[in-house]
Amino acid sequence: MKEQLKLPVFNIIKTLANKDNLQVYAVGGFVRDLIMKRPSKDVDIVIVGNGIKLAEAVAGKLPGKPKVTVFKRFGTAMFKYNGFEYEFVGARKESYSPDSRKPSVEEGTLEDDQKRRDLTINALAVSLHPDNFGELTDPFDGLNDIKNKIIRTPLDPDITFSDDPLRMMRAVRFACQLNFEIYPETLQALKRNKDRIKIISKERISDELNKIILTKKPSAGFKILHKTGLLEIIFPELTALKGVETIEGLSHKDNFFHTLQVLDNVSDKSENLWLRWAALLHDIGKPATKRFTKSGWTFHSHEFVGKKMVPEIFKRLKLPLNEKMVYVQKLVLLHLRPIALVKEEVTDSAVRRLLFEAGDAVDDLMLLAEADITSKNEKKVKTFLKNLEKVRKKLAEVEEKDKIRNWQPPVTGEVIMKTFNLKPSKEVGIIKDAIREAILDGKIPNNYDAAYNFMLEYVKTNNILS
Ligand code: ATP
Repeated sequence: MKEQLKLPVFNIIKTLANKDNLQVYAVGGFVRDLIMKRPSKDVDIVIVGNGIKLAEAVAGKLPGKPKVTVFKRFGTAMFKYNGFEYEFVGARKESYSPDSRKPSVEEGTLEDDQKRRDLTINALAVSLHPDNFGELTDPFDGLNDIKNKIIRTPLDPDITFSDDPLRMMRAVRFACQLNFEIYPETLQALKRNKDRIKIISKERISDELNKIILTKKPSAGFKILHKTGLLEIIFPELTALKGVETIEGLSHKDNFFHTLQVLDNVSDKSENLWLRWAALLHDIGKPATKRFTKSGWTFHSHEFVGKKMVPEIFKRLKLPLNEKMVYVQKLVLLHLRPIALVKEEVTDSAVRRLLFEAGDAVDDLMLLAEADITSKNEKKVKTFLKNLEKVRKKLAEVEEKDKIRNWQPPVTGEVIMKTFNLKPSKEVGIIKDAIREAILDGKIPNNYDAAYNFMLEYVKTNNILS
């Protein structure tokens, strides 16, 4: 461990600890990541005493004297140095009341401080005092849990989770992020305490959800959330996808597990959080549109219903209501289009239309469409993928020729108003749409003269202005 504690900040702490005989430790996630050889840029330092004073003393000795930010109310201080973020806090003891996750805090020992931590793997401490520099204090067997890949709470899990229910989300997130198993007793406590999650703010829940979504295999996290009953509370639209119904011997697929598979498939190909959200939500409109008809199960218009559900979900989960959401909506709405394209003949006009509607999201849309093929029939998967490859080629050809992505029709609203002496009005919109449609359908070429002549003809033959 010693050789891994070579940061200049640790040297300064060591000197100060020697001079004033301070008990100082690196703790928590930083130690966990050090042991697991994961990169980490956040260093948490605990001192039995005053964390703010120590932060100021250390920063004062560093070249350039980094600025210390003090959070008096929390008794913490932090500074940034050489790309690392150092947070200092005095060791503390916490006690909770049942209706809040804000504990009352008093000064404590190192052990008190370790007890208040969420998981054994996050409760390790390494001494920075020269007498025992690099020595591990591990009262809850966290090191073994790291070796055995176990997620477990330091104290009675019912107390740990009930005190601060966010820890339930963290437990699931770490299990998924590190590919660890949740210890059976801990898992039972997650089930028992699931309702406590309701006192946690949506922002914090979504932070953890996003971290789960950004892991290598997010389905693992969602399966635990589902198994423990947490998902039903925080994301009922997803659990509504669960289940297989059979009528007259005809079943539909389980859209929950299908969705998770699509999410994993997309995650194999892209780190884009919002593309992953689109995968998670691509079939979210299915439960509301499910029907049994003569021809079997249908989910007509689930893409439209799904698109409409996105803002409600984003709002509730306090996700950004900005262009990221619009992008997710676009992908949910269009997710069937690439596959629909190959079912018909891949015409230039259909491709042009898709390019126009998807705009810059077209490459991500293709990734989503490919990820959406989850049939167990390998031959079918191969054929679909091959067909989608054809669509990709066609998209590239048409884009090269027509430059439809981010395209605006060559005749603008201004020109329409000037030509017919119109004020902004419904008619201008009708004419503009007609020009756009004619170009997308390939009736006229994508240039000014053709569009202008089409416009004159269209207005005359359809009596638009009479
Ligand atoms: P990550 O940086 O991946 O979010 P982390 O555990 O490294 O995870 P923080 O979330 O900053 O980093 O937490 C630092 C440490 O603080 C944790 O390792 C843990 O010991 C403790 N901790 C954080 N949140 C909680 C909590 N809700 N309850 C108890 N201990 C916590």
